[in-house]
Amino acid sequence: MVTATVPEQQVKIGPTQLLINNEWVESVSRRRFETINPATGEVICSVAEADAPDVDNAVQAARNAFKSGEWRKMSATDRGELLYKLADLIEQNTDELARLETLDNGKPLQESLDDLELVIACYRYYAGWADKVQGKTIPISGSYFCYTRHEPVGVVGQIIPWNFPLLMQAWKLAPALATGNTVVLKTAEQTPLSALRVGELIIEAGFPPGVVNILSGYGPTAGSAIARQMDIDKVAFTGSTEVGHLIMEAAAKSNLKRITLELGGKSPNIIFADADMDAAIAGAYNGLFLNQGQCCCAGSRVFVEEKCYDDFVDRTVENAKQRIVGNPFDPQTEQGPQVDKEQFDKVMSYIESGMRDGAQMLCGGNRVGEQGFFIAPTVFADVRDEMKIAQEEIFGPVMSIIKFKDIDEVIQRGNATMYGLAAGVWTKDITKAYAIANNLRAGTVWVNCYDVFDAAAPFGGFKQSGIGRELGEYGLQQYTEVKTVTIKL
Ligand code: NAP
Ligand code: MG
Repeated sequence: MVTATVPEQQVKIGPTQLLINNEWVESVSRRRFETINPATGEVICSVAEADAPDVDNAVQAARNAFKSGEWRKMSATDRGELLYKLADLIEQNTDELARLETLDNGKPLQESLDDLELVIACYRYYAGWADKVQGKTIPISGSYFCYTRHEPVGVVGQIIPWNFPLLMQAWKLAPALATGNTVVLKTAEQTPLSALRVGELIIEAGFPPGVVNILSGYGPTAGSAIARQMDIDKVAFTGSTEVGHLIMEAAAKSNLKRITLELGGKSPNIIFADADMDAAIAGAYNGLFLNQGQCCCAGSRVFVEEKCYDDFVDRTVENAKQRIVGNPFDPQTEQGPQVDKEQFDKVMSYIESGMRDGAQMLCGGNRVGEQGFFIAPTVFADVRDEMKIAQEEIFGPVMSIIKFKDIDEVIQRGNATMYGLAAGVWTKDITKAYAIANNLRAGTVWVNCYDVFDAAAPFGGFKQSGIGRELGEYGLQQYTEVKTVTIKL
């Protein structure tokens, strides 16, 4: 682990109010809260704090926009054009948005730039879908003409996390808007700023008032108000499994709004001795340490076949020791700070629990620097399945390496968690790869690669990793209701 230096940075801060009905407003309570730069622990600025009355106002604006002719009767091609326009504006402001993201979230600037490529691709992908959402004609018995329409669900509440603020905003907004819904989106309290700047671009692109409303605020207040709101037709949530349960409960207790949940994971990344070992070591390393380890699909249980275990461990520890941790604006930096003190403390407590449970900590384990929330890349070997660090989502730069002997055993152990988000397998043997891909209960399986994302490829979880899919054509289905029309001839 090496520490990077700290160059001075100029970052332009965009709007800090709530976006309701294409207007920037303070919250009803006029309260504000501060957002922190996780690299220094210093306050960046304050933003307006939404609570239930602001959610109600935003929902009213979204409902009016949904009913109004301007959005509902707009041709699907024109809706697509608006999304293309937004993608272009984001592209023109890439540098500024990337800096804002890095300032608020702490991820290295290059990672913000990589995220933005995916953001732009996501808006363009769904822009293309806008005028290709269509039903079927169905040959039912009798003298009838029967067809289906895929109509928007209505007013959609969207709650996003802090680990990929811009990308999660795109995954949520793009399919919802392409299919003609209107949106009330709540960002994570840790990272409100980049979404608000996109709000400005949404207005500039020419979206009608009320189509997109963006609220900064806390989960138990604003977030929970969205989940309980009686006039929201669907809620899409990304975050922890714990809060996923609350969202589902609130939907059940209110108006049975539709839900899609994108939750946590404890994804197995399986390395066989016959793999291209250089690629496997790099793949396992990036699959865990990317984004400070704050990825829902992080390959956080690295299963390594006995025959190559010692070599894999030695080389992984060497790599982790070389990782450059420091100022996320420094182009040399590979790892920035954790997003806030709470996450920092949580990750440190998992490191302590790994040591207590008898896993071998071979590097890291400590805080880096005097300020901010930096944690040294940490590698545990000889981790056993029952240890907390092999069961729970750590969401930090902590790799758990676990030894295995054969394929049946690793499939069984790979599946032995409540999660099922993603998995990886590294082998030159197609038969093994195929068996792993078919038998792991996970929404995504990467073979000889990891973290390959594309707006066209669906993503989501089995088991308690979620409900529904985002991205691709599958993602569209979650934003439409199917209407059956039967006409007597
Ligand atoms: P979280 O609480 O699940 O936060 C996700 C989003 O849900 C945020 O916008 C949050 O608002 C909101 N929220 C919180 N409580 C809510 C409630 N009662 N009703 C409605 N919305 C609510 O996650 P976190 O506390 O930031 O992180 C905790 C752990 O969750 C992490 O350590 C990690 O394991 C996991 N996580 C997973 C993902 C993922 O991509 N799957 C992302 C982030 C975190 P606030 O901003 O006010 O919290
Ligand atoms: Mg912040």
